Amino acid sequence: MSYRAEYIWIDGTAPTAQLRSKTRILADWDELPLWGFDGSSTNQAEGHSSDRVLKPVFTCPDPIRGGQNLLVLCEVLDTDMKPHASNTRAQLRQVAVQFAQQEPLFGIEQEYTLFQGSRPLGFPEGGYPAPQGGYYCGVGAGEIFGREIVEKHLEYCLAAGLGICGINAEVMPGQWEFQVGPLSPVDVADQLWVARWLLHRTAEEFGVRVTLDPKPVKGDWNGAGAHTNFSTRAMREGYDPIITACEALGAEGKPIQHVSYYGAGIESRLTGLHETAPWDEFSYGVSDRGASVRIPWQVEVDKKGYIEDRRPNANVDPYEVTRLIVDTCCTALER
Ligand code: ADP
Ligand code: MN
Ligand code: MN
Ligand code: MN
Ligand code: MN
Repeated sequence: MSYRAEYIWIDGTAPTAQLRSKTRILADWDELPLWGFDGSSTNQAEGHSSDRVLKPVFTCPDPIRGGQNLLVLCEVLDTDMKPHASNTRAQLRQVAVQFAQQEPLFGIEQEYTLFQGSRPLGFPEGGYPAPQGGYYCGVGAGEIFGREIVEKHLEYCLAAGLGICGINAEVMPGQWEFQVGPLSPVDVADQLWVARWLLHRTAEEFGVRVTLDPKPVKGDWNGAGAHTNFSTRAMREGYDPIITACEALGAEGKPIQHVSYYGAGIESRLTGLHETAPWDEFSYGVSDRGASVRIPWQVEVDKKGYIEDRRPNANVDPYEVTRLIVDTCCTALER
C-alpha cells in the first residue's frame, strides 16, 4: 500500500515568509526521506545553484486526505545539511534547549481575516458594514461571516491532533481567531504553522483567501494580532517571576529589539488605538488591553500563571517570537 505525505515548508519571501507544500507518494514501509525542491522559486536560492533540502521535523495525520496520509512539516537546509538562512526554527531549537529546565510554555492567539476578492467577508461591495460593536463573539447572519470555514478548520485541526484550544469571531466582520497551546516553544510554533497551512487549505475549498495582514482594512477597524501568552514553571508557581518577566521585556533596548521581529507592518497596527499600545512605548499592567504586556486579572488574583505579550502581529513568525521571549525572560529569571 502507498500513502501520500504532504511536505510543508516555510519559504524565503520577504518581509513575510509564506507556506509552500508538495506531495510525495511513499510506500508503507518507507521512512520519511529527505527531499529536495527548487529554492530559486521560493526566494531561497539563486537559479545557478537552486537545490534546497527538506528535512521532516513534525508529522501528523492529514485530516483532509484522511486514511494513513500525513502532513509533514519540514526545516529547510542547504545541501551541506546546515540550516538555510530562512530557517528560523533552527535558532529557536538552540534557545529552547538552553532554557529547557525552566519549562517554558506558550499559547498563541492567531487572528486572521477572510477575504472574498478585494473585500473582507461581510463587507458589502463598494461600501462598509455597520461599525464595530456586535461582531466579536457574535451570532447570526447579521454579525457572522465565514463560520462554515472556521468550523471546518477547527475539525481538521482536532483530527490532526494539533493542540488547538479555542476559536472565536473577532471585532471586525470576517475576522476570526484560533488559539494553540499551551505547548513548549518548538511545539507551539510547529503546530501553529501547520494550523495556518490547514486554514489556507480549508478556505481554498470555499474560494476564500486568508490573510494574516496586520491591518487588512485601514481606518477605524481593528488590526489582526497574534497575542503570545507565556509562562515558565516559576511563573506558574508564583507572582515575583511574573513581574520579573514583565520587567525583562521592558528593559533597555528590549522593546525595540522584540518589536523588530514581531511581524512586518507593526507600526500600522500598534498605534495606541484599537486595543493596542504604541509600538515604541513599552508598558505592562493587570487586565490592561491597552498595554504592551497584560497580566490577566485571574493571574493577579491567583498570584501565579502567565503573561500575555499583545504586540506580535498576526503575520509574526512563531519561531522568532518564542525565541525572543524565552531568551529575554528566561535569562532574567535565571539570575
Ligand atoms: P484572551 O482573548 O482573553 O486574551 P484567549 O482565551 O484567546 O485569551 O487565549 C489565552 C491563551 O493563553 C491560550 O492560547 C492558552 O493556550 C494560553 N495559556 C493559558 N495558560 C497558559 C500558561 N500557563 N502559559 C502559557 N500560555 C497559557
Ligand atoms: Mn520539476
Ligand atoms: Mn483571544
Ligand atoms: Mn483576539
Ligand atoms: Mn489576547
